[in-house]
This record gives sequence, structure tokens and C-alpha cells, in this order.
Amino acid sequence: MWFLWPIILLVSLTGLHLWWRAKFNAQAERRAAEIETSQRKQQQTSLDAKAQQQVLFNSMLEGLLLLDRSRKIYLVNRAFKNLFGLKTELRGKTVVEALRLHELDELIRRVEAEQQVLDYEIKLPDLNERWLQVNAAIITNAAGERDGTILVFRDLTRLKQLERTREEFVANVSHELRTPLSLIKGYVETLLDGARDNPEVAERFLKIIERNSQRLDLLIQDLLTISALESEKIKLNLQPVALRALADKVLTDLHAKAENKNVELFNELPELSANGDVNRLDQVLANLVDNAIKYGKPNGSVRVGGKKRADGVLEIFVRDDGPGIPVESLDRVFERFYRVDKARSRDQGGTGLGLSIVKHIVQAHGGEVRCESELGKGATFFFTVPAV
Ligand code: ADP
Repeated sequence: MWFLWPIILLVSLTGLHLWWRAKFNAQAERRAAEIETSQRKQQQTSLDAKAQQQVLFNSMLEGLLLLDRSRKIYLVNRAFKNLFGLKTELRGKTVVEALRLHELDELIRRVEAEQQVLDYEIKLPDLNERWLQVNAAIITNAAGERDGTILVFRDLTRLKQLERTREEFVANVSHELRTPLSLIKGYVETLLDGARDNPEVAERFLKIIERNSQRLDLLIQDLLTISALESEKIKLNLQPVALRALADKVLTDLHAKAENKNVELFNELPELSANGDVNRLDQVLANLVDNAIKYGKPNGSVRVGGKKRADGVLEIFVRDDGPGIPVESLDRVFERFYRVDKARSRDQGGTGLGLSIVKHIVQAHGGEVRCESELGKGATFFFTVPAV
């Protein structure tokens, strides 16, 4: 029986070995499963973090562009895509490939050399004249080496437009002020140089000086009104306004002026009650009727009329039968200092600001202005105002 012992020992050892292997395998499998779960968790967390990051970047108003070390696009946000009108995937492309903007590529190289570039302005080569402001800096890793570049873009177009409008306005104002001032200066100098000794000439020159100082005064008054309307310093004193009675008053005020040109004035307004500021609506009507007399034909007629529209809004018009306004100027006449015929406007003592003031006042009431005209047959100016 002695030979059985080694067999029993061998079987036991094999059994033990198999049991150990099974146990070890189970442990190894469990550990592998644990590692896999933890890796999956890590991956998920990193995906979640990336998604969160993208949501955060997408909620930015500024365009964001992240480049990796080799100047390839790593990430952009929604605002960036909107700014450049891009829809395709940009990751992995260079800015030249993605945007065809060599100026931006040069800027990126400058940022790498200088660490950061602030308030850099780029004009996009599209037709709409768009301007962007770029702030850019390099990204470094823990060892202080360059790891990439971050660029933040802001749309400057509106700001640039406002800047240009302001510059044009200042240039226009200076020009408008300079014309009467240089006339006054010239005639005063001529008077001082001896023209005052001739009473007839002196009287004529003094009249010119008087007319131009009145023009300066009007211009400054209009400029102050425009500035107050634009800065919303003027608060409307809203109350029921009887429009027919208001038109009567305006036509009476301008009666003498109309008579000088033998222009007949008609008030065809029905009894309408507007919710408005009586002094401001007076200004609107007076400006429109004054223009109709000024630019209408001698021996012609000017009519004020209106109705309550189906939508409940009141629509008032001032119509003349003068030479009218060319189609291309119909919208532009409401711009500051725009005149169809510059010389004619100045002759009539116009400042070029009347219709712009009209537009501001009407818009402050929540209304709209427009002009219709057929050349040679007259012009009709419409404005709307809320009913009571
Ligand atoms: P202005 O002080 O020159 O009258 P406005 O802003 O009141 O300035 O008008 C702008 C321009 O619109 C005028 O210069 C004139 O050329 C034109 N215009 C205004 N009203 C009429 C009209 N009823 N008929 C023809 N042209 C007009």
C-alpha cells in the first residue's frame, strides 16, 4: 500500500494547485474588472468635464480659439463659429486652412514671441466691413514650456460704426458752424475796412450778418434738441392731444410764411385724440408744414390730414404739391444734415436737422415716419402716434 501515498500526495498537490489557480484567476479577474470599471469611470468623468467645459465655453459671448503646440486648432466655442460663419469641424486644422486669415496666423506667431498681445484689431475681408478685437496669450505647462495659444475674439463692428457716425457728426457740425461764421467774419472785416462809410452797403452787409447769426442760433438750438432727444434727457409728458386743434394752431403760426409764397393751407384732420406730448407733436407738425411751405411750389397748397388705422394707431400726413423728393433720397431725408438740394436748403435757412428731430420725437412716442413722393407732383410725410 506504500505506493498509494505518493499518488495521494500528487493528487492532493494537483488539487491544491488547481484550487490556488482558480482562486488566483478569480482574484485577477476581479482586479481586472475593478481596473476596467475605474478606467471607465475616469473616462466618463473626463468626458463629463469636457462636455461641461464646452457648455461653459459655448455660453461665452466672446469667440474662443485654443491652439495646440503645433498651432493646430484644439477647441473653438459657438461664438467663434458664429463670428466667422463656420459650420464644419475645425479640430486639427491650422487657422489659415480653417479661416484663410494670414493676418491671424502672423498674430499667433507674434503672441508666441511676446507671450501675449492685447487689443489687436482685425478687419475681416468680407463685404460687410466687420471688425474684431483679439486678445491672445500663450498657454504654458507646469514646466513653463509653451503648450498652446488661447485667443479671445470680440465683435467691434457696432462700436466702430458708432465711432464713425460720431466722427461724421462732428465733421458735419463743424462744417455747418463754419459756413455762417466765416460769412459773419468776412462781412465784419469788410465793414471795418471801410464799407461802413457807405450806409447802403453797410446796411446790406449788416443784414447778411444778422441772417447768418440767426442761422447759427437755429443750428445750435437744433443740435441741443437732437442731443437731448438722443440721450433721452427729454421725458415725454403724455396726455390726450386733440390733433385737429393742434394742426389749426400750427397752420395759424405759419400763416404769414405761407402767405409770402401764396401757399394755401388746409386742415383736413378729423377729430382724433392722440396719446402724446403736445409740445413735441406741435414741433413735429410745425417742422413738416414748414418744410412743405419751404420746399413746395409758390402758389401751391399744403394739406394736413390723417385717420385712425384698422390697428387703432393714428396716422397723420402733411402733403404738398411741390417738386417732390427723388426715390433714392426718400429714406435719407431723415438722416442728420442730409439735404436733397444743399444750396436750396441753406437759402431757406434750413439746418438739415429738422426731419431728424421729427423722426426722434415720433419714435419716442413709439411711432414711425416715412415719406412718399412722385417727382414733380409733391411729397407726403406720414407719421404715426398712439391713440388715447
Ligand atoms: P432742412 O433744415 O434742410 O429743411 P430737414 O431735415 O427738415 O432739413 O429736411 C431735409 C431735406 O429734405 C431738405 O433739405 C430738403 O432737401 C428735403 N425736404 C424736406 N421736406 C421736403 C418737401 N416737403 N419737399 C421736398 N423736399 C423736402
